[in-house]
Amino acid sequence: MQNFGLTKHHCMQIHNLSETPSILNTFISEIRDEKIQKDSMRFRRNIERIGEILGYELSKTLHFEAHKVETPLGVSNTVLHNNDIVLCSILRAGVPLHNGLLNYFDTAENAFISAYRYHKQNPESFEIIVEYLACPSLEGKTLILADPMLASGQSMVATFEALKPFGTPKEIHLVSVIGAQKGVDYISKTFKANAHLWIAAVDETLNEKGYIIPGLGDAGDLAFGNKLQQ
Ligand code: URA
Repeated sequence: MQNFGLTKHHCMQIHNLSETPSILNTFISEIRDEKIQKDSMRFRRNIERIGEILGYELSKTLHFEAHKVETPLGVSNTVLHNNDIVLCSILRAGVPLHNGLLNYFDTAENAFISAYRYHKQNPESFEIIVEYLACPSLEGKTLILADPMLASGQSMVATFEALKPFGTPKEIHLVSVIGAQKGVDYISKTFKANAHLWIAAVDETLNEKGYIIPGLGDAGDLAFGNKLQQ
């Protein structure tokens, strides 16, 4: 876990799961592999499986309280998490990641937002446009914000800004599949002590069009097919 040399009470905590080799590596290499990723059903399912693993890992930091379960033969004492979770995804590439997280956080409320890059004359410069937004109250809740590709980090930050009128979450978990170091650095300036980043791999660079290198290509197109817009 990196926290850029500051104590964990002052900055976002970064959990890069690729630092510990696991079955996650198989799913990541399949979504990157240009031969395997063409199978869009497998691509979506792998993103979903990665969402399940990231969700499981983040669940270890939730708040747990004592709970008794009556079995047919006795009483089992356990602890269950009591967080009110709101799962927010950025359309459209976020949908399979959202499904993976929702497979484990089955009582979560859900928010959806659309954010896309609007390229001006210069193809290298773009702004993030947020249009559609459906969100429950976030006040005092645990917000899980899912964006599979953390490239520049601008969509994550634009989304968070758009969610502010819906209340202040108690804690924030950002969930991404592949990030670029630049995006990780950018969001760690915005998100502070009550925030965690759960990410399956961090790559070195971005190309001039803002794609992660080596990355995997366009996650939305791989999951749902090509679009006409740039
Ligand atoms: N979005 C993608 O789908 N891929 C990238 O590499 C960056 C952003």
